[in-house]
Amino acid sequence: MAEHASDPDHWKQDRKEGPRHFLDMEAYGGPEHLPRTLEGAQAQLGGDYYRRGVVPWIIQDRWQDLVAAFRTGDPEQVAFATAILGHYIADAHVPLHTTENHDGQLSNQRGIHSRWETGLVERYVQEADLTVSPARPDPAFLGRPWEWLRAAHALVPQLLEDDRVADRTTPMDGRGKQRTQAYWMFLWPKQGPVVRQQLQLAGQHLGDAILNAWIAAGKPRPPAPPAG
Ligand SMILES: [Zn+2]
Repeated sequence: MAEHASDPDHWKQDRKEGPRHFLDMEAYGGPEHLPRTLEGAQAQLGGDYYRRGVVPWIIQDRWQDLVAAFRTGDPEQVAFATAILGHYIADAHVPLHTTENHDGQLSNQRGIHSRWETGLVERYVQEADLTVSPARPDPAFLGRPWEWLRAAHALVPQLLEDDRVADRTTPMDGRGKQRTQAYWMFLWPKQGPVVRQQLQLAGQHLGDAILNAWIAAGKPRPPAPPAG
């Protein structure tokens, strides 16, 4: 699963792939006005809807793939479908995947996307620090992505504010291009708990997705382990 978890990011030479990783909530007038179906999205935005992101519907589709994989009984297919689904579920937990200001380009904070989702994670997060609660059966699972996205979106203003203050408070390097260690040391105590929480929630919700896909597939028995 880990081996294939990043595959969807390598499919972006296909023009249709990019919008599968996010949802620009502002396009719909904010988190309270999100459509539940693609037809609803099209009704609200017309032909423009796809370009503003389709991640909740892609999660639904890839979850159906996982249900189908469980029905085949082939562990390789189950693992692959889980890896792909997990990618989009994780994207839905990244606050900057829920806003048109996805890289801080509208607030003069360009680069914040990778500073938050890569810079902080690579510098400070250890897998051992993350804990995930057990998966839960959930008959309403297919509606959950909208809740995840709304919760992630609510984190955007503070995230941007912390980055602004970190930049204001700490010096850049000589050419004013690279953040210094001081920037990271300022930002981590503010945003670290958020990064960790979102990582844990993404893991927990992937667990929920797997359990509920298995239930939807009729709870197939796992194949016998290979002999020897
Ligand atoms: Zn992605």
